[in-house]
Amino acid sequence: MSDTHSSETPSQPKAYARARLRLSLLSGAMDLAILVLLLTSGASVALARWSRAIWRPWPLQTLLYLLVLGAAMTLLGLPWDWLKRRVEIRFGLNRQGLGSWWGDQAKGLALSAVLMGAAVELVYWLLHASPGHWWLWAWAAFALFMVVMAQLGPVVLLPIFFKMRPMTEENERDAAVVRRLLAAYARQKESNPKLPRLHGIFEWKLGEKSAKANAALTGLGQTRRVIISDTLLEASTPEEIEAVFLHELGHHVHADIWQGLAFQSGLSLFGFWLAATALTALGPRLGLSGIADIAGLPLLALVFSLLGLVLLPAANGFTRRMERRADDYSFAALGTAEPLIAGLEKLAEKNLAEREPARWKEFLLYSHPSIATRVRRGREWERRQSGAVSVG
Ligand SMILES: [Zn+2]
Repeated sequence: MSDTHSSETPSQPKAYARARLRLSLLSGAMDLAILVLLLTSGASVALARWSRAIWRPWPLQTLLYLLVLGAAMTLLGLPWDWLKRRVEIRFGLNRQGLGSWWGDQAKGLALSAVLMGAAVELVYWLLHASPGHWWLWAWAAFALFMVVMAQLGPVVLLPIFFKMRPMTEENERDAAVVRRLLAAYARQKESNPKLPRLHGIFEWKLGEKSAKANAALTGLGQTRRVIISDTLLEASTPEEIEAVFLHELGHHVHADIWQGLAFQSGLSLFGFWLAATALTALGPRLGLSGIADIAGLPLLALVFSLLGLVLLPAANGFTRRMERRADDYSFAALGTAEPLIAGLEKLAEKNLAEREPARWKEFLLYSHPSIATRVRRGREWERRQSGAVSVG
């Protein structure tokens, strides 16, 4: 149970999980501490006053404040990203050269600068224009943004960081696998005519950056697709790939992307209300000149960070339920749990996943059930099947 007297060296997956958890706890704690410090030390108010002295129009003041704060937070966050890279290297999972890593950092920074800039300008415009209902409008804009991002993600965001290649029957390399997956899709479509169209199967070139493997259902409407990492394709048998594909199809059948968006929007409605309440209640005590004072931005960030932390177990419980359902779908569609179990075992090995984490860890931190839990569920499914056959 306890780590206090671990004189023996922990297994690789355990050590990897521990190193990553330690880093995210420390960097998360630092972020929270910075936000609290900015608010309580008067630094945020001072920075806002300085930006007001330089530029008259409030949108420019907001931008200036955001630039300075963003630059500081980026610099403070960089060592943590570096340490995360070191951990990946230490455990033999990193395949990305330093130049490419810096490139990704720069792209990530540019992307978040544009998105954060637009979001903060919009929120502060709403705070000026509609002081009573800004949080409702901001939430509506956020919900719309999430839907647009879910749609554009696979065609705009993912390709910024990874190469994506459509897999087709015409391509000799893919032909066997694609034919197999399309046949599996056609069989599912037969038993469920309402099964929505899938707009492609893509190879996700993860291997040039990482030794890890993954697959996912992404996109909405015209961009809805299954992506499978090259690392997974290389390591798996056609049957295992089909089982993983059927798991993703399970997400598709259950409209899990929409459910996730609905869940997220529900929580964020509460978040925006809470942010508005905190701004009104604490603003004067923190020296804000009003709710639309940009000096209150760290308070908004703090509310969303804390809420995210508190709701993490609920969000993880929500996604774990989806994953169980998608696994069940794959078992039933294939008529056997074995290929998915074999595929998951390989995935766990490649990703250095902890097979059986402590129960509390799985409950609090795991977006997917642990490998041991998923394998156990598959074996139970197999047992029920053979039981049903022998009974009659
Ligand atoms: Zn899944």
